Amino acid sequence: MVEQTTCIVCGQSINQTGGGHRIRLYCDDTCKQAAFRARREQEHTDEVTRRWSSFTAETRTFLDWLRDRHGEDLAVNVEHAIEREGSNRNQQGVTLAIDEALVELGRKLNFPRLDFARADGQQVHIQPGEVHWTNFTLIAECREVKLALEAARKRNRTGE
Ligand SMILES: [Zn+2]
Repeated sequence: MVEQTTCIVCGQSINQTGGGHRIRLYCDDTCKQAAFRARREQEHTDEVTRRWSSFTAETRTFLDWLRDRHGEDLAVNVEHAIEREGSNRNQQGVTLAIDEALVELGRKLNFPRLDFARADGQQVHIQPGEVHWTNFTLIAECREVKLALEAARKRNRTGE
């Protein structure tokens, strides 16, 4: 009995000889090789997606190309450089958000004199007036701005 199936690559019909032979999936060697190449490419794509999963598809393609062309070392170095840029930008974003929050709260409180303690216990203060509050955010370190923001929030809650 001849059973017919279709080639999983091109769809042409295949006569299965049966009789203990394995079922043929491909009509000929060209389709078999095409399927093998496609599988290998898929595996490669999967590997690239897994390895650089935190990057966009565009960056993944670029890093893959870079690795093929210039080797593993350069690809890894570029990967780390991109990551550093990203985390810097995040850091800057957070800092800006805290600065803005402080000035915004200052405006709500009408920019009073604000006293607070630094991490080392030393008392510091921001002079009254918008310009002093703004200058403070420009020159103070991020964690000091955070402490000022805490003090301003407390003042806002208690009305002290
Ligand atoms: Zn075929």
